[in-house]
Amino acid sequence: MSPSQLWHYVRQFRRNRVPGQLVVQMTDRCNALCPQCSMRITEHFKRHRLGLGPLKRIVDNAGRRRIQAISFTGGEPLLLLDDLVAMLNYAGAVGIPYIRTGTNGFVFRHPERPDFEDRVNRLAARLAATPVRNFWISIDSADAATHERMRGFNGVIAGIERALPLFHAHGLYPSANLGINRNLGGENSIPVLPRHHSADQAADFRAACEHGLDRFFRFAADCGFTIANVCYPMSLSEAAAPGEMQAVYGATSVDAVVSFARHEKALLFDGLTRAIRANRSRLRIFAPLCSLHAMQQQLTGGPRGYGCRGGIDFFFVDAVKGHTFPCGYRGREDAGVFGPEDSGPAKAGSADCYQCEWECFRDPSELTGPLCELFSRPSRLLRRMYRDPQFFRCWWEDLRYYRACGFFDGRQPADVAKLEAWAGAVNPLRPYRRMPAVGSARTAPLPVVGRPPIFVGRDRCDRRAG
Ligand code: SF4
Ligand code: SF4
Repeated sequence: MSPSQLWHYVRQFRRNRVPGQLVVQMTDRCNALCPQCSMRITEHFKRHRLGLGPLKRIVDNAGRRRIQAISFTGGEPLLLLDDLVAMLNYAGAVGIPYIRTGTNGFVFRHPERPDFEDRVNRLAARLAATPVRNFWISIDSADAATHERMRGFNGVIAGIERALPLFHAHGLYPSANLGINRNLGGENSIPVLPRHHSADQAADFRAACEHGLDRFFRFAADCGFTIANVCYPMSLSEAAAPGEMQAVYGATSVDAVVSFARHEKALLFDGLTRAIRANRSRLRIFAPLCSLHAMQQQLTGGPRGYGCRGGIDFFFVDAVKGHTFPCGYRGREDAGVFGPEDSGPAKAGSADCYQCEWECFRDPSELTGPLCELFSRPSRLLRRMYRDPQFFRCWWEDLRYYRACGFFDGRQPADVAKLEAWAGAVNPLRPYRRMPAVGSARTAPLPVVGRPPIFVGRDRCDRRAG
């Protein structure tokens, strides 16, 4: 990071602002079958794409507003490869340092065909010639057949395994991107936890999550990935008034495979925390423990973490009209075309939103929150440290780990020696606690996927999926 960039960040923190982020949905066209997404190829609705003209205007304005991170998402961005490459270059030219895009992996089908290597080499060379920093490939399950069935891409895992060394040779290190779903550790590996459950059932559910996620991280490393990220299940707040939220981003579904109830999510995040710690030496895993801790606290009635910066510093642009929204889920707040002027810090800190767990916006909000408070409202930071010291332990651990990961630079290989120092990392301050029982005791085995217990599930097609 250059001194001028660092100074820019400090000035932003002092104004109670954090480095800006923009997620641009280039298109809602897609060629995959994912049951967990309303943009899948079998859904019948009018498809859209943003043209190069509107895209360039958006990116120009992002540059003027000194947006630091931009993601080009879909649908499937690689369906528009020429436009995508043009926009990756354009974003670099306007000075945006963190540029991301990804794919659902369709380009890695048919690894048995003789032209496979040439095809992948050409793609990798084109992407590597742009300033893209992170390129994600969506993976839904530790079981290849389950992933391929969900996406509708037979043989794609073998193709990804063959493609990764080719990408690495071009200096691009793709990330495995998992949208949490009930098949993540294999078909139906995550059961449904009834609302009224016993402590044993809760422990079983958490163990299933932890083991499934552990299996997933090992699988991703075995495939050849060096970076992984996790997209949390998207369920809108139960406290939200009916009709208050409306997803503008189509990567949503009510399918049970991605629907998790509130009481499940707290346990899921606990299992995820453990699986991440167990695999931090194996892969560079982005999902921050401080964010998982904050969301567990929120879900179990503990102290809340930092408010989401959606609509303040982070924004979503949809493919239908090219309009701006606070995020992909507050679709009633259409702010029109992404303009050159920052609307100012008026809302910062006064309109904190906790209505969902969209990692794209929640994770960076939690990660930058302490720095922002340090420079803008230090007394508030001290109060928070007193109230929730565990958050700050996780935060500090995350920062040290991120440093060992080279801050997830997808243009650099993993530093194996630095990662190995994280082998067997456990947090001795956080014993494996049993979650309290809710409702009547039950001893029956947990059911596998059934009726969705809560509103909206989501797979991801944003900064780290396709
Ligand atoms: S999750 Fe992504 S790849 Fe799957 S249907 Fe939706 S947009 Fe397409
Ligand atoms: S928490 Fe963030 S991403 Fe979720 S609805 Fe609120 S602003 Fe949007």
